[in-house]
This record gives sequence, C-alpha cells and structure tokens, in this order.
Amino acid sequence: MTYFDQNALKLCHAFWRRRLRPGMTCVDATAGRGRDAAVLCELIGEAGHLFAFDIQPEAIESTRERLAGAGLLDRATLICASHSRMADYVPAADAVVFNLGYLPHGDHAIGTTAAESIPAVEAALSILAEDGFVTICLYYGGDSGYAEHDALLSYLWQLDARQYTVMVQQFFNRPNCPPIFIVIEKNW
Ligand code: SAM
Repeated sequence: MTYFDQNALKLCHAFWRRRLRPGMTCVDATAGRGRDAAVLCELIGEAGHLFAFDIQPEAIESTRERLAGAGLLDRATLICASHSRMADYVPAADAVVFNLGYLPHGDHAIGTTAAESIPAVEAALSILAEDGFVTICLYYGGDSGYAEHDALLSYLWQLDARQYTVMVQQFFNRPNCPPIFIVIEKNW
C-alpha cells in the first residue's frame, strides 16, 4: 500500500474492513451525516447491530435518511445523546468509532470537545470486548482548533501500556493539519 493517495478516513475504513465481521456490535460515537454508519452497517451485516450517537437532531435525521435509503436502518439504533453517555445505552461492543470535528455542511460552532470526547473514550474502553478496538479520526486546526487535539493526545499518551496499545498515525509533513488516525486496542 502506498500512502500517497491515503488520508486518515481511508486508513480508518481500511482498518474496519480488516477487523469487522458479520454479527458484530459497533458504536458510531459521532453519527454526523451517516457516511461512516453506512459503511459500518454494511460490514456487520444483517446479524450485526450499530448504535449511533450524535448530539444534533439534524445529524441523527441525516443518518436516518442515509441508512433508510441504503436499506440498512434495521441494523441501527440512533440515539440523540452525547457519546460520553454511551455506556448508559450499550452494555458491550466489539468496536467503537469516533470521527471528531464538526458536522459536514453544518454549524462549525458545534464540534466535538475534549470535555465530552475523553469521557466518551473512557466509556468506550469500559464496554469494549477483550479483542475489540476503538478508532478515532481526529480533525483539528481551522474551525476545530487545537484544544481537543492537545487534550485527547495527552490523555491517550498516559493510558496504561500494560492494559492498552495506542497507535497514532499522521501524515507528518503534510500542510494544514491533516486529520490523524488513531487505534486503541486492549492488550489480551
Ligand atoms: N461520522 C460522521 C459521518 O460519517 O458523516 C461525521 C462526524 S462529524 C466529523 C462529528 C459529529 O460529532 C458532528 O455531527 C457533531 O454533531 C457530533 N458531536 C459533537 N459533540 C458530540 C457529542 N458530545 N456526542 C456525540 N456526537 C457529538
């Protein structure tokens, strides 16, 4: 694989394709326009289930429309609540995915924040299967700013290495803050 035509989202989807199997339970912690949710629903098949969270009713409706249009809505439960509360709704998951930033073609003032996304990653790790994973596509700079990027990377850096493996991939010499792809796995 060459990295020339890659970006964080492509790396993320390729990782899902390698790891997700029919019948799995996934959480999309940032439903947005439902593009990721549709990919996840395809990969987990009819026997799988997706729980998708977003705080914006507009995003939940977009996701509902996209999944319904693709005939995938029966594989998903859409929840208009913060991802920090995911453990209140989902007892266990094989994968939890985050695509941090703001709603595409939406209000750039309503983006993800470290105050919610760090507790959400903690919640994700608390419900994760032993061989499960968390992925994070981290957008920063521009309208997203740097606060969530700085706080989240600091948090991940101090995660106990005996319990978790954290991989951070970034296009180091590309300009304009290219998004970062992160994987967290439990050591087992
Ligand atoms: N995965 C989406 C897609 O495929 O279209 C893109 C997600 S977008 C970059 C980030 C989303 O996170 C926005 O829709 C925003 O409303 C949502 N968000 C912001 N804070 C949140 C929170 N505390 N809990 C859940 N979603 C949140």
